[in-house]
Amino acid sequence: MINGILQFLRPSPVDSLRGGIALKRNKPGLPDNGDITSLQVPVTVRIPLLNYQREVLQPLVSVGQHVKLSDSLARGVIASVSGTVVEISPQPIAHPSDIRVPCVVIATDQSNAHEKLKSHKELDSVTVERIHDCGVHGLGGAGFSTARKLHSSSNKEHRIQTLIINAVECEPLISCDESLLMTDSDKIVTAIQNIIEFTNCTRCIVAIEDDKPQALKALNHAMLNFEGTLTFELKLLPAVYPAGAEKPLIERLTQTRIPEGSYPAKHGIVCINVSTALAIDEARQGYPLISRIVTIAGDLAPNPTNVRVRFGTSIADVLKQTNNHHNISNACIRIGGPLSGFIINDLTVPVTATTNSIIVEETRTAATQMACIGCSACSDICPVDLLPQQLFQYSVNENTKRAEITGINSCIECGCCDLVCPSNIPLTHSFRFLKGHIKEQRRQETLAQVAESRFHLREQRQQQRRELRAKKREAAKQLLTADKAPIADALERAKQRRRKKAGNKNNTGSDRGKDENNTQTRDQQP
Ligand code: SF4
Ligand code: SF4
Repeated sequence: MINGILQFLRPSPVDSLRGGIALKRNKPGLPDNGDITSLQVPVTVRIPLLNYQREVLQPLVSVGQHVKLSDSLARGVIASVSGTVVEISPQPIAHPSDIRVPCVVIATDQSNAHEKLKSHKELDSVTVERIHDCGVHGLGGAGFSTARKLHSSSNKEHRIQTLIINAVECEPLISCDESLLMTDSDKIVTAIQNIIEFTNCTRCIVAIEDDKPQALKALNHAMLNFEGTLTFELKLLPAVYPAGAEKPLIERLTQTRIPEGSYPAKHGIVCINVSTALAIDEARQGYPLISRIVTIAGDLAPNPTNVRVRFGTSIADVLKQTNNHHNISNACIRIGGPLSGFIINDLTVPVTATTNSIIVEETRTAATQMACIGCSACSDICPVDLLPQQLFQYSVNENTKRAEITGINSCIECGCCDLVCPSNIPLTHSFRFLKGHIKEQRRQETLAQVAESRFHLREQRQQQRRELRAKKREAAKQLLTADKAPIADALERAKQRRRKKAGNKNNTGSDRGKDENNTQTRDQQP
């Protein structure tokens, strides 16, 4: 068994990542002893009413209502705390454009309990319904609905063949998954085996970078101690950024390229972040997903750490509770990693499933942007084979059509092109902006299509009604025409009766004359 595991831990011959960049390992927030502190539940939390597609949802609660932990605030959105709803209004959220979206603001009762749902007893095997009820979302960055992702496991057409557990946390400073692996490897190994059973997949790969010695040691230990047969493969990947991005990782491990506009489940592959895998198994036991591990790091964060934070807690609260708030007046706060993250200007924005890190850094003075010299350094490093220099021209001209044809929607916003551009062109920022613009255009187009189809349906309904009315009129007319004959007959009969009567009267008169004559004749008789 030991030899088998050691064999697992040897670097596997996997294709190296196309493009990407080898960065110096820098994980200051990693715990030495493996403990992850849970922050106190704050006085108020703000829960955005958004689904994983960033569509605004209708609230299912009202102001003044008391909510319990994991009550539904909207479809697929659960309460991460118990307390009273004090406001439902637009609030700032973590977004590159500083947008506001409707949020449920809850004055918490500050209970730190993370209870099992009373209605949810531990199951032998996880179910999609349970994952949905427990509000499990991808904790890797995209925040995709896990229930939706795994729903394909019950779909015969797109049955899961390959399950990938993504423990590749490749961006500098971020170490939330690594700290989880160090502290909860036993639970993670059990969770992976349970998910393999649930998905009934034919192959499961656990991917991790080879520069995580403590996490690998913990994982090795957990695998040794596991009671039962391990049915997953462990793949060690060379540490190259952005090795953990979903589509490049899938291509690297399975040689399957997921085309733009498609998704892995369509190709029989599901990729789940390692923290999400643990959340799925906790849902099986009846625990809802109400918090996540967040890395706090950066030059101006004196106490870099990894802490467990309730969803809805403000960034300001997290920095204060971790004692990293002293320099924030001169600092720049970034959500996400130093390369793929974005700066926020409002510290009341809440922590959500996608908030993997908070970086407190010095304000970067924007380097003077120069003209593109066509060096192709950006395209050489792009892990998804794009031509950033060309895409940049399209984004400057807002030529969404050309940008889409050239594959802007495949951009994973990794920031590698920015890092190598000698002309300091903010490529990633412009791609992010253009992608948002395209998404909004698509949304407007969909809304227009929906409105058009509703209009056509209404026209159809009215036409059907008109036709029905015309048919009814025609039927009534025919009925009337058909009924006219009996009326005419009746009139004719009545006429005949009258004529007969009149005839009878006449006859009676002449008979009387006859009688009178007869009487006279009789009287005249002797
Ligand atoms: S940000 Fe987009 S275009 Fe730039 S390297 Fe990454 S994937 Fe390629
Ligand atoms: S790296 Fe910068 S200068 Fe070079 S081609 Fe790309 S955009 Fe132009």
